[in-house]
Amino acid sequence: MPLSVVALGTGVCADTQQTKLSRQPPGFLITVDGVHILFDCSEGIRFRLRAAGVHPQSVTHVAVSHAHPDHAALPQFIQSKFCSILFDKPDPRAHQLRIYLPKMLARDWPQVWNWHQPENDGAYWNEFSPEIVAMDDGFEETIGPHVVLKSFSVYHGYGRHPAMGFRLETPYGVVAYTGDSGVCEGVRILSQSADLLIADCSTRVGQEYTGGYGHMGPRQCGDLALKAGVKRLWLTHYFDVDTPDIILSEVRAAGYFGEATLAHDGDRFET
Ligand SMILES: [Zn+2]
Ligand SMILES: [Zn+2]
Repeated sequence: MPLSVVALGTGVCADTQQTKLSRQPPGFLITVDGVHILFDCSEGIRFRLRAAGVHPQSVTHVAVSHAHPDHAALPQFIQSKFCSILFDKPDPRAHQLRIYLPKMLARDWPQVWNWHQPENDGAYWNEFSPEIVAMDDGFEETIGPHVVLKSFSVYHGYGRHPAMGFRLETPYGVVAYTGDSGVCEGVRILSQSADLLIADCSTRVGQEYTGGYGHMGPRQCGDLALKAGVKRLWLTHYFDVDTPDIILSEVRAAGYFGEATLAHDGDRFET
């Protein structure tokens, strides 16, 4: 398949009695023309990549929506990629890693890395040095022939967390990911005519709000998908508190009648 998306993590930041252990924290693998791109990089993502048949060494692009710990276990991924060069048969892509971060987070990243590797004075290793790319609202970069990554600021953490959502435009379809966000202009732009929209749905049925902390509920996700003309909607980051039927009925109540599912780890989208 020229374009595929695998849900590596549709879960949340905590273990609760309701949240199924089979739903790990956020991460989505997008493969286009053989290039592996990760949207969010949660704890233990390398295990889930391996389970999906993809060696972490071969992932060359990682876009992190925001720095909350359930989305951004980046030092662990960087270290695992480097150490696999030492201990495993190197893949030609093992030395390449381009990491996209919201601008403010890219600015502070060296402190995070230095905290983990003080013996290196903030440096990486001679054999391996990832590239950190700072994203502004409206950022775009060509990743491959007619494959463009676009990023838009979204509303999260009372509007004080520099958070972004993504849109990957390819010749085979558009994949959009809200990251963690409430309803805002950014999610509207990134969702436009997407073939697949992966939308944060961590607000419970009946508790939806605008402003505040910044998450969406199912009716808001449905409304977003309807107005953006989205073909397929994956709800993600939801708690297993409301039943799937009730959650999906909220999507329908918003008027969205495209394909909509509560995403589970291992779900695939292919074109
Ligand atoms: Zn968050
Ligand atoms: Zn989150």
